[in-house]
Amino acid sequence: MLDDIVSEVTEKAPKLFEEATQIAEDLGKPKPRKADFDRFGIAVFTRDGALVKAGNAGTGFPIQSISKVFALEVALEALGESLWKRVGREPSGDAFNSIIDLERQKGIPRNPFINSGALVVVDALLDVDQDPNGCVMRFVEHHLDGEKASYDKDVMESDRTGGNLNRSLMFMAKHHGNLKHEVAEVMEAYVHQCAITLDCAGLAKAGRFLMHERPDERSERPYGDARRGRRVLSIMMMCGMYDGSGDFSYRVGLPAKSGVGGGILAIAPHTASIAAWSPALDPMGNSWLGVLGLELLAKRTDWSVFGRT
Ligand code: GLN
Repeated sequence: MLDDIVSEVTEKAPKLFEEATQIAEDLGKPKPRKADFDRFGIAVFTRDGALVKAGNAGTGFPIQSISKVFALEVALEALGESLWKRVGREPSGDAFNSIIDLERQKGIPRNPFINSGALVVVDALLDVDQDPNGCVMRFVEHHLDGEKASYDKDVMESDRTGGNLNRSLMFMAKHHGNLKHEVAEVMEAYVHQCAITLDCAGLAKAGRFLMHERPDERSERPYGDARRGRRVLSIMMMCGMYDGSGDFSYRVGLPAKSGVGGGILAIAPHTASIAAWSPALDPMGNSWLGVLGLELLAKRTDWSVFGRT
């Protein structure tokens, strides 16, 4: 089935490239690259332990904002519900790196999946982890069955040099008393987590904990962990695709998180952890072909959380 999805995505890619070119022209932005619409991978890890993959599922990419899901899980496990005093749980409707809302909200970011929220989560993690630069990496590798992930050093460097907007978000939060550590320290941990590199197969594996099998005799997952996973999924559903979250929910119906590396992690609760990747990004920063591939998968499997059709 995944091969059919890759064929269908490949067939539809030229039309999306045209659409993307038109949008870029209208917005006065640089033209998208045709070659970015030629690469697409997808991998599915099912609850019974099968891993299926197709297309460029073995190509590594920086997970970027998908790391915000892992960081949130680690922070919630360490800090519990008190984390929500510092960050909200509402969709933002603004760009992922917008500062406007942070000022309005007096330094309390709308949710942990926009940049301001993720930076506050990293600040919170600095209180609980000896090695905050590596704590998200350790969490990811724990779920890779002994495989190692790497950091993309170039991405880390360009996120450092191009990170002034992220620094501004932190100064705004600090001004309102919602950032305890030094901006440079938080930045360093943040650029590390964004630069973690996985392929679709690795990302689907790393996302397995969110399938959160019910805590019964078949599952090793304790009740508290399963409940936390369910809550993380609810935030992915509302906020995981930035200001494209509503459209994604309408078309796909699965909780998901995207990153500007072109990856998307989507979860079919109790059923599958799914990763899709393609580098061309739509105006919201979500992968054009990744969203399309997941839409086709949800249609074929009937995995939408809103029920079967
Ligand atoms: N490193 C990127 C940034 O902070 C991550 C954003 C993203 O993936 N949407 O701007």
